[in-house]
Amino acid sequence: MKKQLTIALVAHDNRKADMVEWAVHNADMLSIHKLVCTGTTGSLIRKAFQEKGIEADITCMNSGPLGGDAEIAAMVVRKEVNLAIFLIDDLNAQPHEADIQMLLRQCRVHNVPIACNRYSADLMITSTLWDNEDYVPTEPKYIYFKR
Ligand code: PGA
Repeated sequence: MKKQLTIALVAHDNRKADMVEWAVHNADMLSIHKLVCTGTTGSLIRKAFQEKGIEADITCMNSGPLGGDAEIAAMVVRKEVNLAIFLIDDLNAQPHEADIQMLLRQCRVHNVPIACNRYSADLMITSTLWDNEDYVPTEPKYIYFKR
């Protein structure tokens, strides 16, 4: 059995169709892992999986604008998330922009791979590095660069 990961899935409203389609397409891979989602994204994925008879471990946090991104960011800080897929609506302003930036920032700070489009998500989930015991991710270094 491969290592079980916790994968965060978040999609803004105009990207939810894309996320559900991507999740169904990758259901075989996703169903062996734990999925943690913002509220509406998670319930839509759960519904689509149920309709197709796909079993998966899906935890829904609050809806994004009500703190779901912040809850997932806190999980990232506690090292409880291994990979994140975050389909952002880059064409429309979001009421919870501060939380979106926090989630992105905490993923960078804590070295959690985060894919913000489907191509990156595909590359990430097809990687074998996360299941390679010899691979140790290099932590980000914050070193003052003196010119
Ligand atoms: P939602 O939240 O899945 O509850 O819609 C996503 C977001 O807007 O961050």
